[in-house]
Amino acid sequence: MDLLKFIRSVPDFPKDGILFRDVTPLLADIEAFTSAIDKMVVLSKQFRPDVIAGIESRGFIFGAPISLKLRLPFVPIRKEGKLPFEKESARYDLEYGNDKLEIHVDAFQPGKKVLLVDDLIATGGTLEASSRLVESLNAEVVGICVLIELSGFGSRELLLGRQVSSVLQL
Ligand code: AMP
Repeated sequence: MDLLKFIRSVPDFPKDGILFRDVTPLLADIEAFTSAIDKMVVLSKQFRPDVIAGIESRGFIFGAPISLKLRLPFVPIRKEGKLPFEKESARYDLEYGNDKLEIHVDAFQPGKKVLLVDDLIATGGTLEASSRLVESLNAEVVGICVLIELSGFGSRELLLGRQVSSVLQL
């Protein structure tokens, strides 16, 4: 199944010069959504994770079904101010702006193998900050799985040494 045709490219959103890759057409088609999750599950399995960590908010949409299919715990990495309990935080730069991500200090035990999930990698800043969060809890990032990987934004350099796998490369 060609999943590319379910990704809508919207110019100048949320800012001039950004070509936004909109996954809502894919989510709205049950065959395409199922196929995307199945492919991400295959990619995720190779890392043999103990835990799936999804990044707010589209990382939740893809990460939660992967965790259910692999029968693994799901941990949310959230934007600043959303998590109620004691947390670690990390600042990061986005393709458009910068922000802070947080994780609960009891999200997983030290030494756990964590797979990070998001919808898309552009600069890799979000996943780099998420990796730092996981490592601040003395857990290990065994891999990163995304639906879409954009080339030309330097993510491979920023995430050098990390295992990145993607369903679609644009
Ligand atoms: P980055 O940190 O630059 O790799 O950006 C990745 C995060 O920002 C992901 O959570 C994406 O959902 C979002 N994002 C960045 N650029 C785009 C884009 N061109 N289209 C859709 N989402 C994007």
